[in-house]
Order: sequence, then structure tokens, then C-alpha cells
Amino acid sequence: MNKCCCGNSEKSSCDIEKDNLCPVCGKQGALVKNITVKHMVLDELMEQVSDNDYFLCMDEECDITYYNIKSNIKFSKQQVKVPLWFKKDANPKYACYCSKITEEQVINAVIKDGAKSVKDVVVLTGAMKNSQCQKNNPLGKCCHQIIQDAIDKGLSMK
Ligand SMILES: [Zn+2]
Repeated sequence: MNKCCCGNSEKSSCDIEKDNLCPVCGKQGALVKNITVKHMVLDELMEQVSDNDYFLCMDEECDITYYNIKSNIKFSKQQVKVPLWFKKDANPKYACYCSKITEEQVINAVIKDGAKSVKDVVVLTGAMKNSQCQKNNPLGKCCHQIIQDAIDKGLSMK
């Protein structure tokens, strides 16, 4: 019961924490910088983004992508230019957004070409070249971890 900050009287800290919860599924989102969100949403929606930072709903089943509770703005999967790799039915499922390398390509590099590390995958697929992750990756972060996850997936399929 006392695990939640709402259990005590400090209401202000409560409100701050709630800002990161998805308005639809209620799960905690990941903080994403304004510049990234501006590059991700459809051009006609860019104005709505304003100068805010956003949270990104990481829930596989949820239709919501970026949201800002204070401004009451939320964008759905359909309002974003690229498929989000962690959402259900993402197609294509990119591991590296800058070089448009899919998870499938990474897995193939592991299974068919024997890649074992991110370095191997970079050489074999051309991933992570001309990296502009802040603009191209939906989280605004380097795709290194996504590629590593895809490698692990490929290795487990061997
Ligand atoms: Zn959600």
C-alpha cells in the first residue's frame, strides 16, 4: 500500500510522477526529447508538438506513441512516420533506423554469416553508418541496444 507515493499527503510529487504514465494504457513511458518527436510525427502534426518534451509509450499492445499529459497531446502509431519496433505488428521492424536495417537483416547476419557482435553486424549490414539517432531513432537514442537484442534473438535461433 505504501509503495505508491499517492499513499501519503505529498500530492505534488504524485502529479509529477503521473506525467510519465500513458493516458491510454496507464503504463510508464520513456522520456523523449522534443527534437526527436518533431522528426517522428507526420509533417502536418509537427506544429502540435510545440517545444515540449514527450513520453513514449513502450507498451506493445497500446496504440499510443508520444504523449504529453500537461498539454493534453497524444499521438497514435498512425501519426508517426516510421513503425516502432517494439509495437505489435511493426512492419518493417527496424533495428537501426539511421541505415534502415531491419531486425530480420541482423538475425540473418547472425544465422547465415556468423555475426556475433554489434561490430560484426555493422560490417555485414552497414548498420549504424551516418548515425543520426537523435533524429531517426524513435527514442532518440543510439540503436546499439536494439541491434544487440536482435543479435541475441538470432543467436538463440541458431
Ligand atoms: Zn500506452
